[in-house]
Amino acid sequence: MFFFNGQRPTVAEIDLDNLALNYHSSRAFIGSHIKHMAVVKADAYGHGAIECAKRLATEGIDWLGVALPEEGVELRAAGIDVPILCLGGFWNGQEEILLDNKIVPVVYQADKAESLNAAARNRNVTVDVHIKVDTGMGRIGVRFDEVVEFSAKIKKLRNLHIDGLMTHFAAADDLNQNEFTSLQIKRFYEAVEIFRNDGFEPTFIDLANSPGAIVHPESRGNMVRLGGILYGLGGDVLPSGVDKPDLKPVLSLHSRITNLKRVKRGETLGYGRTFTAKDDSIIAAVPIGYEDGYRRGLSNCAKVIVNGVLAPVVGRVSMDWTLIDVTDVPNAALNRQVILIGEEKGLAIKSEDLASLLDTISYEITCGISRRVERRYVSRT
Ligand SMILES: *Cc1c(COP(=O)(O)O)cnc(C)c1O
Repeated sequence: MFFFNGQRPTVAEIDLDNLALNYHSSRAFIGSHIKHMAVVKADAYGHGAIECAKRLATEGIDWLGVALPEEGVELRAAGIDVPILCLGGFWNGQEEILLDNKIVPVVYQADKAESLNAAARNRNVTVDVHIKVDTGMGRIGVRFDEVVEFSAKIKKLRNLHIDGLMTHFAAADDLNQNEFTSLQIKRFYEAVEIFRNDGFEPTFIDLANSPGAIVHPESRGNMVRLGGILYGLGGDVLPSGVDKPDLKPVLSLHSRITNLKRVKRGETLGYGRTFTAKDDSIIAAVPIGYEDGYRRGLSNCAKVIVNGVLAPVVGRVSMDWTLIDVTDVPNAALNRQVILIGEEKGLAIKSEDLASLLDTISYEITCGISRRVERRYVSRT
């Protein structure tokens, strides 16, 4: 979509070595014998699906998970041949795309199962699908109390092979809701029994997202589906005070000081004049704004790192620009690096920190960094 010629200094740096490290430390923690799916939907939570999937494939990931068939096609077009599960199923008319690209869909509606079965029959092939059971998330999936009827319908579809059964947790990250997570696990295994009694022999039995896999060992089944922790986003989607693998942030967000000016005490800055200088100050303009995903809610509250010290965001974040007060930053100068997410000299600003200022979770921060921001991939190996 964008042609980056490297001139605008606003860049999201993706550390592929940290991605690999998070994968290996999670896998060692969860159990190497358990299959691991890396969820790379939504462009790998904003980190870049193709590059992340390629690196994870090199590191030995068993499966990739996407939300839409289109996301799977993008990976296939990039030459990635790891098995791909499409977690959100598919839309009418996408059956051929799935077959052409060997993308395994999640199925939970009889009509979709039938249309896929028909497409497979026309080609004289059998197609693998995974069935999703809704055990309490209430979003997509066959309701746990309607599995008997669903299984009976699916049994008649000779060109479908049920290779996996799965469910998804609503609150695996919240220790106060452990009872509900246990109920989901119980409902799921009851559903698995029903399918087995109907003669299905699924290879994959999976329930766990990141918090499930880390906090609820009994939910690991024989495969886990990891998103957030692979990107090092454990700070807010894993409960505090539990054992967890070593995780390092994968994404950092940088820009540079593009304009510097002195303002006088009492002068106001930015749209709405929400900030008034308490003293004569030095103010820097940084070329990043809410269109880039540096959200307007960060106005007058976030901090950035410049030359190893914290500098406050002042005034409203606008579409393309953010102002910071660098009065107390030693040697603030044009072109100096500004770290909006990242670490320097023992200081750290995490996606989790911005999320908490914005009353959201880290996933929304990294997913929200727009396509206008160049992703720059770094790896020392
Ligand atoms: C997104 C998603 C995951 C990954 O969740 P994380 O919390 O990022 O680990 C797993 N399973 C399903 C069905 C998902 O939609």
